[in-house]
Amino acid sequence: MKCITDGAADGIDGVIGCIRKVGMCVKSVHSCFYTLPKDFFSDKLKIKGKIKMNYEELIKLGKQTGFTHVAQLNPATIELKPEVRQMCESNSCGMYGKSWSCPPACGTLDEYRTCILEYKEGILVQTVGELEDEFDGEGMKETEQQHKKYFYALYEKLREQFSHVLALGAGCCQQCNTCTYPDSPCRFPERKVSSMEACGMLVLQVCKDNHMEYYYGSNTIAYTSCFLLK
Ligand code: SF4
Repeated sequence: MKCITDGAADGIDGVIGCIRKVGMCVKSVHSCFYTLPKDFFSDKLKIKGKIKMNYEELIKLGKQTGFTHVAQLNPATIELKPEVRQMCESNSCGMYGKSWSCPPACGTLDEYRTCILEYKEGILVQTVGELEDEFDGEGMKETEQQHKKYFYALYEKLREQFSHVLALGAGCCQQCNTCTYPDSPCRFPERKVSSMEACGMLVLQVCKDNHMEYYYGSNTIAYTSCFLLK
């Protein structure tokens, strides 16, 4: 059995190879699978998925999901700035103190710093929309909705591939129709999504330091989010 569990690190092919090595019939292998811990395979296969998915594939996946631009993000370039948090406090978006995903409930800059330090890989994703003119609120809203749709779709795909995904979006968490804040705990703490700004990132700086445009000219709008991966 030890050989079979070792082989599981290489996925189903590794397991079948080990079963053959110990002289068992592959057709009867299903009885062995049930003796392994319930989460054994899913963890190993996620690790295998991480090794297999390189940046070229990640960028392709992001574009297939619908984003107009996808770039490699080096988490070491991320600076968390108190002045960005102060902008949240001015409550120009109207969400300050309204969600577990937004300040002050989402956590301190030091907590985010510690969390981000654990990640060595990441991607930036962007949706750029064309506007009729600078007052085209409908066009802005449409681009924002598209961006959020792609963001949550890619989040699900990445969660299948990586053991840990820190998803930082554009705007507050939309996992639930109505946030439970502050009456009861967050319904999905593992899926809660804060914005890049909520954790103190200046999106312009993060884009610039990772070779992604931030502004695409007059009559355009760009929504940017990121995923940190391990
Ligand atoms: S997952 Fe739901 S309850 Fe938690 S922060 Fe997001 S919207 Fe609020």
